[in-house]
This record gives sequence, C-alpha cells and structure tokens, in this order.
Amino acid sequence: MFIFDCECHMMPLADDISYFPLYKMNQTALRNMRRLFPLAVYGQYDNLTKQKWAEIAQDQKRRVGNAPGESGDALIEKMDEAGVQMACVLPESFLPMSMGTRMMSTNGWLANEIKRYPDRLIGVCNVGPEIMRGIKNAVWELEYLVKEMNFKAVKLYPVDGVPINDERLWPYYEKIRELGISLFVHTGYSYCIPGRSANCFPWLLEDVCENFPEIPILAYHMGYPFQDALNMCAIKYPNLYIGTSLLSYFGHGISRRAQVMLGEAIACAGIDKIIWGTDTGANRTAVDWLKKFQISESVQKDYGYAPLSEEDRAKWAGLNLAKLLKIIPADTGK
Ligand SMILES: [Zn+2]
Repeated sequence: MFIFDCECHMMPLADDISYFPLYKMNQTALRNMRRLFPLAVYGQYDNLTKQKWAEIAQDQKRRVGNAPGESGDALIEKMDEAGVQMACVLPESFLPMSMGTRMMSTNGWLANEIKRYPDRLIGVCNVGPEIMRGIKNAVWELEYLVKEMNFKAVKLYPVDGVPINDERLWPYYEKIRELGISLFVHTGYSYCIPGRSANCFPWLLEDVCENFPEIPILAYHMGYPFQDALNMCAIKYPNLYIGTSLLSYFGHGISRRAQVMLGEAIACAGIDKIIWGTDTGANRTAVDWLKKFQISESVQKDYGYAPLSEEDRAKWAGLNLAKLLKIIPADTGK
C-alpha cells in the first residue's frame, strides 16, 4: 500500500530559546498531551505485553517532532522502518513563543534537511504568523519558497496568528491561488501555548472556501473537538479536505469512538476527501493503526456507515494526498 503522511513536523534543537517563559509553558502543555498516549493505541494490539508496551514507548520517543534536532536522514530511516513512502514535511513557526526571536524551524533549515529526498519528502512551508511579520513579507517569502525552493504547499497556523477568515490574510490567499498550490491549515483546538483555539474553529473556513474555491484546502486534525462542524463544511465545499492526523489520540486507538468519528467524516466528505497523517512523524505504531483500523459490524449496524474497503484504505493512506499535490505515486510493490 502506498502510504503518504500529510503532516510531519521537523525541528532543530531549541536550547537557545528554552529560557523563554512561554517556551516552558508550551513544553509542559505538550508533555501533558502524552497522557492521551495509552488511549491512542487502545484496542490496537491483541496481546499488549509489557515488552510490546516498551517497544511502542520507544517508537514514540524516537518520533520526529518529539525529538527536536533530528534530521531529514533520521526521518527517512524511520519512514523506511514503518513502510511509509512519502511525507509532507513542515517547519513549526511558534514565533511568539520566543517573543519573536526565531521560528522553531525556519523554512530554509527545513529545505536543507529534505533536499536530498525530493521523491520522498515534500516541503510544506509556513510563513507565519503572517500579520505579525507583515503580510507583504509573508507573501514575498511564500512566492520565493514555492518558485525557487521547491515547496509544494503552505501551512496556515492560525493558533499564533489571526482567525482563518481575517481579511488581512486575503493577499496571502490570493498568492496561494495564483501559485496554484494547496493550503494546509490547523483546525480545531490549540494544544500549544501560546495559542488561541478561537482562531481555528472549522466554520471560519466558510469565508475562505467561498472566496477562494480554487484553492484545495486540507484541514488538519479533523477540526477536533469540532469535527461535526468541519464535516458539515466539507459537505458543501468541494475544495475542502479532511486530514485525520491525531485521530488515534483524540478518538482513542481503534475504539468505537474513533470508528464513529471516521465513519461520519467519510459519510459527509466522501472517501476521496479523507487524508491520513500523523502529526508525530512516521512511526510503526501509527502505520499499524492505519492498517488495522476498521468500522466494526456493530458501528455499521448502529450508524449505517459502510465498512472500509481496501480501495478506501488506499485512498485514505496516500492516494488522495498524492492527487491533491499532483504527484504520481511510485509503484511500491507492497
Ligand atoms: Zn498539527
């Protein structure tokens, strides 16, 4: 199966900015998110021995995004171990966290890390926070990164910027349309500090989808915990796609809750607009989850959702994202 992760963050070491109070608060918030981890593998393994737990914990520790300072080479190694062919790789801005000192990872740093793997790692730039930096500067960098540095899409992170539908962002959306690229956007709650969840409510996409119907928009995290609102938006806007990164965390592994969440998203958006990703970077646990996930007979019966066919799974796992990015997937033979 062709597997293409829609969301994989990379960061260099942050020891030079670790003294900032907001950085410390952010790290605490992210550590607290790990409380969800035991739930993220709920029901996934038949025989969860102590040894298997240790393996999973080790796998998670090694993930990109959890170990700042990792390289493109290390990411490729993990992708190979997990059987992931391609990944969209993103920097993290978090500029306000260090009082504007620097982005957690710059686009230039990321470009350097991934340049040896143009067939495996697809650069998705982040030029935010766009208004704080000055919209003209953000738009200039966006155009340069796409035209000169091979970035294929752009991510908006409204958490530390302005609401998705703030009209000061219109020149940014106009440039995205002109460049003919896709927009990836964080939707739902903000689990980082500093951040404002109100900037990311899925229904704010209505203004952007209506004014820029030509831009394919991939909404990360299913808009959780406002996934119903995102589902309803995806019903009416053909250019709006649903990214399922972190579904195993928010939906609890392969539980009934997760099945209902995915089943509803598919029912609303259609299987062709559902895109798999991790947020945590490729790892074996995430791929095991992707391969095992199924809408159980009892959920099919209670909600009327169809089971996932292998064709559906292949679209979710990578084919839909390849199509969105106009990439022809290599025949992996697996
Ligand atoms: Zn994310």
